[in-house]
Amino acid sequence: MDAGQEPGLGVTMEAVSKGKHRATRAEVAVASDSKLTDEIADLCDENIFGCYQCGTCAAGCPFIEDMDVTPDEVIRFVVLNKKEVLDSKTIWLCASCYICAERCPRNLNITKIMEALRQIVLRKNIDETDIYGLTEEEKGTIPQLAFVCLFRKNIG
Ligand code: SF4
Ligand code: SF4
Repeated sequence: MDAGQEPGLGVTMEAVSKGKHRATRAEVAVASDSKLTDEIADLCDENIFGCYQCGTCAAGCPFIEDMDVTPDEVIRFVVLNKKEVLDSKTIWLCASCYICAERCPRNLNITKIMEALRQIVLRKNIDETDIYGLTEEEKGTIPQLAFVCLFRKNIG
């Protein structure tokens, strides 16, 4: 963290997760033969093939500005079994607000699909947190909640 910089959740998350590169989520997922559509079907009962890419979900998402893949693109990636979607920021930025699920004309519950994608990642048991790489200053300024969130999201 730069001197004088206020500790904020975005900054601290980056600091906590700055650990050495291990296999990415997509790299681990690609090693698996299973299709994303099958894994999603196991985790939530959503007809992902019903999406006709209207973009309504993306248009109403309050976090769209910070997402690297829009919610409609997430659905498309899953249909095409493009496992790099598991490396996207989007699935973790999703706040489960259900706006997209409420507005989808095809009654797809995208919120549940986002959670299913997070579960797929968590079940790979990839630890991206380098807790021992933190400086003393970072340990003293990072909110405990940031650690709890990272352990929840990155360790499973
Ligand atoms: S709102 Fe529904 S149908 Fe439209 S792109 Fe999103 S998931 Fe697909
Ligand atoms: S549930 Fe997630 S993807 Fe859907 S609108 Fe809310 S933040 Fe966006």
